[in-house]
Amino acid sequence: MTPEHKQYRIHIRGIVQGVGFRPFVHNLARRFNIAGSVVNDTSGVRIVAEGQAADLVLFLSHLETEAPPLALIDEIHWDEHAPRGLQQFKILASTQVAGGITLISPDIATCDDCLRELFDTDNRRYRYPFINCTNCGPRYTIIGALPYDRQSTTMAGFTMCPACEHEYEDPADRRFHAQPNACWSCGPRCQLLDNQGQYLPSPDPIRQAAEFLNQGRILAVKGLGGFHLAVDGTNEAAVRELRRRKRRDEKPFALMIRDIDRIRRVAPVSPADDILLRSPHRPIVLLPKGDDHGIAPSVSPRNRYFGIMLPYTPLHALLFAEPGIEILVMTSGNFSEEPIVIDNRKAVEFLGTIADYFLVNNRDILIRNDDSVVRSFRDATVFLRRSRGYAPRPIRLDWDLRPSLAVGAELKNTVALGRDQYAFLSQHIGDLENYEVFSSFESSIDHLETLLDIKPQLLAYDLHPDYLSTQYALSRQADIELEGVQHHHAHIAACMAENGWRDPVIGLALDGTGYGTDGCIWGGEILIADLADFARPYHFEYQPMPGGARAIREPWRMAASYLYAAFGAEFKSLPLEMVRQSDPQSVSLLVQMIDRRLNCPDTSSLGRLFDGISALCGIRRQVLHEGQAAMELEMCLEETTQGGYEFPRDEGRILILPLIRSVVTDLLDQVDVSTISYRFHRGLVDLLVEICREIRQREGLDTVALSGGVFQNAWLSHQVVDDLLKDKFTVLFHRTVPCNDGGISLGQLAVANFRHTR
Ligand code: ZN
Ligand code: ZN
Ligand code: FE
Repeated sequence: MTPEHKQYRIHIRGIVQGVGFRPFVHNLARRFNIAGSVVNDTSGVRIVAEGQAADLVLFLSHLETEAPPLALIDEIHWDEHAPRGLQQFKILASTQVAGGITLISPDIATCDDCLRELFDTDNRRYRYPFINCTNCGPRYTIIGALPYDRQSTTMAGFTMCPACEHEYEDPADRRFHAQPNACWSCGPRCQLLDNQGQYLPSPDPIRQAAEFLNQGRILAVKGLGGFHLAVDGTNEAAVRELRRRKRRDEKPFALMIRDIDRIRRVAPVSPADDILLRSPHRPIVLLPKGDDHGIAPSVSPRNRYFGIMLPYTPLHALLFAEPGIEILVMTSGNFSEEPIVIDNRKAVEFLGTIADYFLVNNRDILIRNDDSVVRSFRDATVFLRRSRGYAPRPIRLDWDLRPSLAVGAELKNTVALGRDQYAFLSQHIGDLENYEVFSSFESSIDHLETLLDIKPQLLAYDLHPDYLSTQYALSRQADIELEGVQHHHAHIAACMAENGWRDPVIGLALDGTGYGTDGCIWGGEILIADLADFARPYHFEYQPMPGGARAIREPWRMAASYLYAAFGAEFKSLPLEMVRQSDPQSVSLLVQMIDRRLNCPDTSSLGRLFDGISALCGIRRQVLHEGQAAMELEMCLEETTQGGYEFPRDEGRILILPLIRSVVTDLLDQVDVSTISYRFHRGLVDLLVEICREIRQREGLDTVALSGGVFQNAWLSHQVVDDLLKDKFTVLFHRTVPCNDGGISLGQLAVANFRHTR
């Protein structure tokens, strides 16, 4: 040994198991003449490395820069020890360490190496629809328990053939310890079924499926996290038929498109979008519709965007290699608002009236996981839904969390578990309004607690007494501390937590519905908040919401409520299209409800104001999903030179009746709806910036956190961020969790932990 010969002991934390990390380390060690060993334990990976000092430095730096694509390195620690003259580099068997934590990888799109083999006629996995390796394939959706090995996945029933076994055992192989490793002779297979569940014999089920799609048939296709319903995206009759059978009115369908060049002919793709589309997470990316896109109009009616993703499983790749298959609608296999179906038998039972044929397989899905939906925003990714490809990747906070659970809100529910410095957000669970979704909520909590080995001592929930998530929290029998967190405080806290921010901020919490501390329905709140608490210096004025939740589905009710407040009973004779189209009897009933305060909760919701303006403009009177009317108001916006509407204030109350009167005046003057939409958006941005300036002057705060579903509005988000930055504010916006209620669980977790650890 020369004096330059040294030993480092290296400890790596992060997602480093089940992602090909040990073979990577092994190969790296060979490359730099390093002797020693690598071992997995429950706290991460430990390496003993001996070699020349210069080689060790290279080895260390490459550990980080060349880590396998699925790995997520959180921390690398090393210290020097006396060298022992080791000669070889070995991979040692895994050990268990008490109190350790194993991070489970999300499901990852098929890698290029596997794709090459898939289409290589000489490869033993030629056209094998379940090809995968340590760098790609299913993970979270097939793991039932820890430790993560084949026995605890849904691959347990498939015994590896000698060839697969050999790859699995060979540290130098790219399938070393790839738990879902399989091939034609030992792994899962595809099958076609008709809509009665009868087996359809076919020499090549995938080719046959492609033929059906080319004929305009509707196919249910089993994927990674559940079934998709697939249909030719350029065939209007077929897409319309899918809408009819799925009972889904106008909510856009996602598209899967063969490759990036084909996508470019449908929608302009920015460099940031390109990276998102191709990333191994393979989310659905919202892209503005291009000219002459050639997509069936029913795919995304009344919307300026398409949701587009690239194929992400070998089965998709095989399907898109068939002639004629270029653009498919790929929408979740469910009826509106029910959880996505994951089971073959249930698929036929539930989707038999929608799909003509089923392309199934015998690899079970343990965890349902919908496609993620993102949009590029400035230098960041904005999540509309964070699920497949991302969950359960943790969000690292900069302080320690107690073992804790946050159960989220009602709509777009996610749950979050806390431990060490990690917040683990679940996949998208859905709207907790029916039994199916609620039971999926309960099983997701159980599953994550088991997988992450977290026994919560602290449980955070929303203050809304009627939320099923709240009821679950209050009824949970365990030795657990409970902490209620106000909905909009949770929104702002989520934004702060993921941005690593703890100092007080100005919080713009703008959304549809959240239970306020005064029992009213909040949703247009300007807060001063830190992680422990908040004040509410400004809010939109309360107006009655006639019929409660019904006013969410029927935005004309909000419009009528605003008109009544602004014009009195006279509003019934205003020569407005919206009034003309309303049934006089329903209107009278609604006025009586307001007069007698019957089922008319007060709301300051900005989401409802968007809905109301949308209905007032005649854009949409009724909706099938929350936010639809508001979104269509955004979609018709055309920028003009006219100024925004005024929002006068009475102390901290932002008045909206002057706005209603201005909109009515414009409508009566035949001003175009696109201009009204612009003036509304513009006025809102000016108001928000003005309020931030006032608070800065008074309180000395110059950081603004943006959260709440209203920020899904791309125009508004861009403009607010632009104007605040111009005014030298520091702006925090969401880049890791959704700004909508899908991010609430993170905020709850942060607040509850903050309150209970100080
Ligand atoms: Zn691969
Ligand atoms: Zn095999
Ligand atoms: Fe919300």
